[in-house]
Amino acid sequence: MGKFWPMSSPFVTRLGPLVGAHPYHRPMPGSTTAAGAWFTLRRRTTIYPPEPAGRPGICAVCRGPARPGYARCYQCGQHDLLGRGLLADAVVPISYAVKGTAFAVSLWRYKSWRSPDPAARTALLTLLLTFLHDHGRCVWRHAGMPAPGRLAVVPTGCGRPGPHPLLAMAGPYLRLPRTGLAIRPGEQGRDPNPDRFIAERSGPGAVLLLDDSWVSGASAQSAAAALRRAGARHVAVVVLGRHVDPADRLSAPLAARLAPSGYDPDRCAVHTTVPDPSGS
Ligand SMILES: [Zn+2]
Ligand SMILES: [Zn+2]
Repeated sequence: MGKFWPMSSPFVTRLGPLVGAHPYHRPMPGSTTAAGAWFTLRRRTTIYPPEPAGRPGICAVCRGPARPGYARCYQCGQHDLLGRGLLADAVVPISYAVKGTAFAVSLWRYKSWRSPDPAARTALLTLLLTFLHDHGRCVWRHAGMPAPGRLAVVPTGCGRPGPHPLLAMAGPYLRLPRTGLAIRPGEQGRDPNPDRFIAERSGPGAVLLLDDSWVSGASAQSAAAALRRAGARHVAVVVLGRHVDPADRLSAPLAARLAPSGYDPDRCAVHTTVPDPSGS
């Protein structure tokens, strides 16, 4: 814990109480009630709020850019290739990660192999725990599942040894047993592939599957498929940042209207919806 929450950090006392307020959060030593502390946390957090699923040009699954007239982006359409019933029940981005912004930079700096950035770790851990506290129930509801009984993290593409940086960072604060996921030897790649990962068999429950970044979503959906094949009945993906590249022609209009915003506890990707004008 001290590794990510240096004792010199004011977060130790201010954030400490915050993680005891929800049944799937493990209280830190000395935890007390925490409404005021959660308030403090939220005020420290800045995101690029996901656009509603029903908005034209926005993918209903990942909230990335979709071509006019399409409900999903091209990549999310490709995920159907993974097979019937193997996709995640819900994909919930907490924020966009617009290439070149400080938030997008923090998503790779926090896990830098040589020198992980403590400020990025603190900011992302704060965001993740606050989001799960405020919107976890929105996610489970949207996925049509009970509160998750297991936690898994999408493995990194490079196959680095040791626990995933996201799991190492957030795992100690989440009161959920882990379901292991590993890359199957010889199956590295970027396409959706139900054989890419091997999941530990851990019963028919609901799994919270975390990832730091969503680019094409192929890794997260391949991991969801592996979890389902190993017996999971439900899988909900929560991703810190949905990648948006302003230089990409299809992404440019979305990137142009995104702006950093204070974190809003009354709003998340599956909290606010716009009616589909086509009525479908
Ligand atoms: Zn999509
Ligand atoms: Zn919500």
